[in-house]
Amino acid sequence: MNQLVIGTEVIPYEERKSVRAKRIIITVFVDKVRVSVPRGATSKKVKEFVNANKQRILEHWLNLQEKQEARTHHSEVPSDIPMQGSIPYLEGTVSYQTYIQKRTHIGLEFSEHSLDIYLPESSSSEKRSHLIREVLIYWYKNEARKVFQAKLAHYAASMGVRYGQVRIKEQKTKWGSCSGKGNINLNWQIIRAPEKVTDYVIIHELAHLKYMNHSPDFWKVVAQEMPEYKVWKKWLREHGRELVF
Ligand SMILES: [Zn+2]
Repeated sequence: MNQLVIGTEVIPYEERKSVRAKRIIITVFVDKVRVSVPRGATSKKVKEFVNANKQRILEHWLNLQEKQEARTHHSEVPSDIPMQGSIPYLEGTVSYQTYIQKRTHIGLEFSEHSLDIYLPESSSSEKRSHLIREVLIYWYKNEARKVFQAKLAHYAASMGVRYGQVRIKEQKTKWGSCSGKGNINLNWQIIRAPEKVTDYVIIHELAHLKYMNHSPDFWKVVAQEMPEYKVWKKWLREHGRELVF
């Protein structure tokens, strides 16, 4: 792709011939600028037009960049994780505390609904919050794997279905999926919800092994296994965002 340089900004630039365009049209996207060129417009004319609009393109571009940055900042930068606290886990919570020690590696011990995290003395204080989060995610994923395997085996037997591989994933809004080959993906973050939510998601994905759609027949299979499934489906719709760690 070509580039358009305006001041210190280098913007990917794309030119497209358009049969429908009646005049030269500039569209600014978050990742590029597109110029739609009508039939008969010479490249000299296009260049002149773009040059005449450089300031407006730049303003629009910077505006979009700023918005994009605010969005990613909001969703991806973890909030500060304190040195100790408690985190939701199935029916209850798990408390954790962090110890700074003269060791070179990160440690983690789990006993009786309590987690001990050990961080090396050498880790900077601003990095510690980040490390704690990583350790907690590592723990969550491990737990999720065990919990999911047990529940899948239980419900698959009860529903009379067979599943393939199981993958633990992290997605923002997707809680589970089932492929045509019978492989199941589950988002570890559902173990941050009441346990019935995890059951519901697992039953839902297993039901897809019978029906690869959301037809009334599909929901009948879900209801057979979990008559009150609507409660948890609704819970997930209303509180799902809170599960994102
Ligand atoms: Zn589904």
